[in-house]
Amino acid sequence: TKFSDLHLNPKVLKAIDEAGYETPTPIQAGAIPPALEGKDVLGIAQTGTGKTASFTLPMITLLDRGRARARMPRSLVLCPTRELAAQVAENFDIYAKHTKLTKALLIGGVSFGEQDKLIDRGVDVLIATPGRLLDHFERGKLLLTGVQVMVVDEADRMLDMGFIPDIERIFQLTPFTRQTLFFSATMAPEIERITNTFLHAPVRIEV
Ligand code: AMP
Repeated sequence: TKFSDLHLNPKVLKAIDEAGYETPTPIQAGAIPPALEGKDVLGIAQTGTGKTASFTLPMITLLDRGRARARMPRSLVLCPTRELAAQVAENFDIYAKHTKLTKALLIGGVSFGEQDKLIDRGVDVLIATPGRLLDHFERGKLLLTGVQVMVVDEADRMLDMGFIPDIERIFQLTPFTRQTLFFSATMAPEIERITNTFLHAPVRIEV
């Protein structure tokens, strides 16, 4: 498979070409086509497999036509730690650099003020840790009813850290019609239960 066969937005293709990527990794070749068709994806993949691009590239392609509205992010990426969320945000900036898409990073240890300002202006992509996202929600600063695409990254670590109730709550706050791209290194019974509850006929890719 070549990146040019995957029906990604030309702006995304340009960015990954500039990043020096030559061929899609197996998780990318497996996850990108169903994601672009609007299907839910269950990706079973470790860090280092290129899984970040496997959800970010289709997300950017899907969101590029459309505009963010104030306080209503169009997509959500949930990460277990601040560090991982910051890495996803860095990757997003690289892959989306030829688009006008906007993002906000909602992690602890950063003042609410700056984050509020971005959300008020309207962002396409919200990259967040679950607790911090719910803090913003409880403060009445954020609506999740406009979320079209929701990503859960490293669900097994979310489980280890006790975030599963937060994840369930966030799923319930987003529209039933959302598209979900869900990634985990392993499939513990609790993870299986969440995916059975909230994903709609997911395409399962294991690498
Ligand atoms: P990840 O598994 O998402 O943390 O990605 C691991 C590393 O691989 C990151 O540094 C990416 O920039 C890099 N990477 C992802 N996809 C590709 C690709 N198709 N070709 C070359 N490098 C890649």
